[in-house]
Amino acid sequence: MVYIHRKTKRGLELTKAGIRTKVKIPLNVGDCHFYSFNGLCDQREHIALVFGEAHLKDIPLVRIHSECLTGDVFRSEKCDCGHQLWESLETLNRSSGILLYLRQEGRGIGLYNKLDAYLLQEQGNDTFEANRLLNFPDDLRDYKVAVQMLNLLGVKTIRLLSNNPNKRDQLQQYGLDVMDMIHTETYETHHNRNYLLSKKDKSNHAIRLI
Ligand SMILES: [Zn+2]
Repeated sequence: MVYIHRKTKRGLELTKAGIRTKVKIPLNVGDCHFYSFNGLCDQREHIALVFGEAHLKDIPLVRIHSECLTGDVFRSEKCDCGHQLWESLETLNRSSGILLYLRQEGRGIGLYNKLDAYLLQEQGNDTFEANRLLNFPDDLRDYKVAVQMLNLLGVKTIRLLSNNPNKRDQLQQYGLDVMDMIHTETYETHHNRNYLLSKKDKSNHAIRLI
């Protein structure tokens, strides 16, 4: 069981991990419930979007999406994050699935560092080389908290919507049963081909590029 210190009117209190709020929000793809949590193991404000009665199904389809402000909000063409997010929302709405939206921007290095890495990419480095030049590993993302969130939703077994085999491996190492992996489409733009090639060649993502 995970406990955290939470600020209240009475001062710091120990709080048990659990669901904090469940609220229905209509999205353009359909209605879903947004969940917030107490006591997540990294103490960040991750959210879960649950379509239909996904958590009641035996093996829901789950997308675990790491925040990308530039792609998700501003529709940057330097990456494929926004396209994958919008496709996932459509798919999850159709199949009563779950989206975990993890606040680990820039493969875990944060927004400002990601912008620094973009500058290094303009100078000819690929996305992984740029991270290393900034003294970060290729990928700092950790999916332990995703397993914790799913457990709090009552989900122990999933079908994973992803192209990233490392994500599946980490989830399984943290005790989640990944029955199947379903790939998303490949979204190539004028600006992201090298980024997609790097993910395919250096991180074994299932990406179809001609
Ligand atoms: Zn992105």
